[in-house]
Amino acid sequence: MGSSPRKDWDTYFMDIAFMVSTRSQCPRRQVGAVLVQGKKLLGTAYNGAPMGVPDCSEAGCMIAEEYELVQANGAEQVIKKQRCVRTIHAEQNLLLFTDRADREGSTVYVTDEPCWTCANMLANSGITEVVYCRAYPKDSGKVQAMMKQKGIAFRGIGPYSPPTASAEPLV
Ligand SMILES: [Zn+2]
Ligand SMILES: [Zn+2]
Repeated sequence: MGSSPRKDWDTYFMDIAFMVSTRSQCPRRQVGAVLVQGKKLLGTAYNGAPMGVPDCSEAGCMIAEEYELVQANGAEQVIKKQRCVRTIHAEQNLLLFTDRADREGSTVYVTDEPCWTCANMLANSGITEVVYCRAYPKDSGKVQAMMKQKGIAFRGIGPYSPPTASAEPLV
């Protein structure tokens, strides 16, 4: 009585993904991903430089500039964007540190909608479901189409608030 209702599994595992994301040393983007088989947690990962290599907190972000086509008020517009390319993405680290056998039929919870490269790798990794929190519109259309072709359940978590410790906005 008086305690908050027990968290559902989506909330439980997404909370863990957000906790894991706080380990990332990249000030521009912190992403966490967890591998879940049934109700069992089988792996956690975040975006970061390869082990033993200076990370963003030590060497600074490695900035790549790229141009992106966006729709604004019904018109197409080219905008310049900066991205940090120093890190291995959380989803890729998750695949590097888990076994194929563990991944067959599993679910990945990830704080951010996967980019195209990560989505492509996830699609070939044995997992059958991806649940994400923050949308990544840049790649979303082609990622969702590919997941559908591949028969992988791909969904946003819906109403959800990340744990407060990791709720600072992305820069
Ligand atoms: Zn960085
Ligand atoms: Zn990615």
